[in-house]
Amino acid sequence: MSAANCLFCRIIRREIPSEVVYENEKVLGFRDIRPQAPVHALFIPKKHVAGVREIDGQSAPEFGDLVLAANESASKLGVSGKGYRLVVNQGADGGQTVDHLHVHLLGGRPMAWPTG
Ligand code: AMP
Ligand code: ZN
Repeated sequence: MSAANCLFCRIIRREIPSEVVYENEKVLGFRDIRPQAPVHALFIPKKHVAGVREIDGQSAPEFGDLVLAANESASKLGVSGKGYRLVVNQGADGGQTVDHLHVHLLGGRPMAWPTG
């Protein structure tokens, strides 16, 4: 999947609308279109990376940027006190449906393992 027709790259370029909850020069955070919890947002690198499997020694700090953005947004969105879940799905069996690395932030209700 190239950046040209990647769904999340198109959201970054504002070709597809989204409800942005966080943005800096490296990361975009926006509400998930099919929320699984009262707060459900996605955090993506502005540089196209297909998935967490593509993270290597060089790009590992970029993954940290996603976590920082999710943590900050959890506070802003009011779910940091009671706790929240960060999820990354990798590949078909992992449940990944969009091949652009993303961290899910889920909160606002108790999350039960494994189906939550
Ligand atoms: P995953 O299944 O981990 O690849 O997560 C992809 C997520 O992207 C799903 O939770 C979808 O609901 C979400 N999604 C798909 N299209 C959009 C969109 N246009 N805007 C916001 N979220 C989306
Ligand atoms: Zn992309």
